[in-house]
Amino acid sequence: MERTLSIVKPDGVGANLIGEVLRRFEENGISVVALRMIHLSKKQAEGFYHVHRERPFFGSLTDFMSSGPCVVMVLEGEEAISRVRAIMGATNPEEADPGTIRKDFASGIEKNIVHGSDSPESAAYEIGYFFNQLEINSR
Ligand code: ATP
Ligand code: MG
Repeated sequence: MERTLSIVKPDGVGANLIGEVLRRFEENGISVVALRMIHLSKKQAEGFYHVHRERPFFGSLTDFMSSGPCVVMVLEGEEAISRVRAIMGATNPEEADPGTIRKDFASGIEKNIVHGSDSPESAAYEIGYFFNQLEINSR
């Protein structure tokens, strides 16, 4: 079993896609083991995406991520990290495979509906950023 951190980003929440995103994970055998809605401050968004702090899009990305509420969740399943990213699709929706969340709903490379951790190390950091042990209801 592997855990990963996913976020329905402010554009996904704004488009009423919370249920759709959860459905796509759950129908693929990925279980939700923790979940919360949170409106990140700019500082909190910067902390979450600190690995991207030198990138040219960092300011815009953290403005976007703090522009409205997100739904943050811990997901659990066999190879959850790579499977969640496959369900999400490529960062740029134009390059995403048909049937992925980003292909179906994302409006661009920044406003791309959903986040998923990209490695066991980032999953550990990102899960701990939002949830403590007592809040994770492992199956
Ligand atoms: P995420 O980390 O959100 O799951 P990802 O791993 O597919 O997405 P990253 O390279 O980690 O992509 O980039 C983090 C986020 O930064 C992207 O999801 C997107 O919102 C934004 N982003 C990435 N590249 C660009 C870009 N070239 N221009 C604008 N925004 C970008
Ligand atoms: Mg990433």
